[in-house]
Amino acid sequence: MKENKQIEAMADINPDVIEIDQALFSDGMYGKFGGMYVPPPLESKLHKLAGEFKSAVYDPGFRNEFIYYLKTFVGRPSPLFYARNLSQRIGSKIYLKREDLNHTGAHKINNTIGQILLARRMGAKEVIAETGAGQHGVATATAAALVGIKCKVFMGKVDAERQSVNVSRIKLLGAELITTDMGTATLKDAVNAAIEYWVVNPDSFYLLGSQVGPHPYPVMVGYFQHIVGKEARQQILEAEGRLPDSIFACVGGGSNAIGLFGAFLKDTDVEIHAAEGGGSGSKPKTAATLNFGVPGVFQGTYSYCLVDGQGQPTDSWSIAAGLDYPGISPQHAYLKETGRAHYHSITDQEAIDAFRMLSRTEGIIPAIESSHAISLAEKLLKDKNKLAVINLSGRGDKDVERDLA
Ligand SMILES: *Cc1c(COP(=O)(O)O)cnc(C)c1O
Repeated sequence: MKENKQIEAMADINPDVIEIDQALFSDGMYGKFGGMYVPPPLESKLHKLAGEFKSAVYDPGFRNEFIYYLKTFVGRPSPLFYARNLSQRIGSKIYLKREDLNHTGAHKINNTIGQILLARRMGAKEVIAETGAGQHGVATATAAALVGIKCKVFMGKVDAERQSVNVSRIKLLGAELITTDMGTATLKDAVNAAIEYWVVNPDSFYLLGSQVGPHPYPVMVGYFQHIVGKEARQQILEAEGRLPDSIFACVGGGSNAIGLFGAFLKDTDVEIHAAEGGGSGSKPKTAATLNFGVPGVFQGTYSYCLVDGQGQPTDSWSIAAGLDYPGISPQHAYLKETGRAHYHSITDQEAIDAFRMLSRTEGIIPAIESSHAISLAEKLLKDKNKLAVINLSGRGDKDVERDLA
């Protein structure tokens, strides 16, 4: 394929270059998953966006600017920390990829920097974003302030009430907060409100926060998060002289997980494990889409989705707002079906236990989302004497007041 050659040639020129997902060249299809399931007015916008993204990632100026802000503004590379106490406790050698140390406290900023630079390149006067727990809202407001573009953040009213600190941060950063009381007034309703606004305001740029939605978003978000795994792969080789036996991440929409997994997909000896927000551990109170959902179209993409008895998309439940979404990335649906990655359901209680355990064992308070990955690793690696990397997607400052300790 011509594009393959181009990617190889580019990799030779620029060591910082990030591999481009082949799905970019097939209208965002990962096997049968992905694609663009949207009304006609959005279709032309998305095709334009896909074209602009493609030209941006082949432009060394764009890539260099992206890397420049990741280094100087976000604080990359994030460390790969050998968690000695955790390793002793579990009986396997564990490294933590410290995305919690990024500016604004999670992996989300990697993607927002990439998309805001694309928005500016396309001449956007305004960006819009959805947010659940407020993490993506904060990251987008931050990136928008950085480049001086106006920002509107859509949030469900229920979420805005229970995440008041992030609401204050979003406003302090100069963004406008728009709350919605549609539906359950949570994340999927915020997405619907943002899409509605986008349809009637064609000049705004929709800055999506996870690896979900129609093409080209899953490819773009995967690309901008790929830096996580690229660094981790190099760091573990430097520290241990070999690749890990297994890698772990939590999955909401799937962006931090694909960020880590992407660089290891071809290393078939490396096992890949993901933790979904299991909620109570069974239907209907769950957000574990790949464990309890079925294939279907939801919010613009063909992937898995949680449905009710009538087969209609239903509400999800997880203690972690960042995992509380009834859809999932089409690339993860593909990795599940091909067997390359394994998706497990971790309950609220298991995540809370891991949240406390890591805080006391290592002096690191993890996000309740990331705690799902810690719990899964503890389960699968107990006394196995393996080498593993866990993606610590964010810090737990936002969770300390929730009485989980
Ligand atoms: C948003 C969020 C997640 C879940 O989103 P993904 O797109 O699946 O990564 C996980 N961890 C943290 C800390 C988050 O803020």
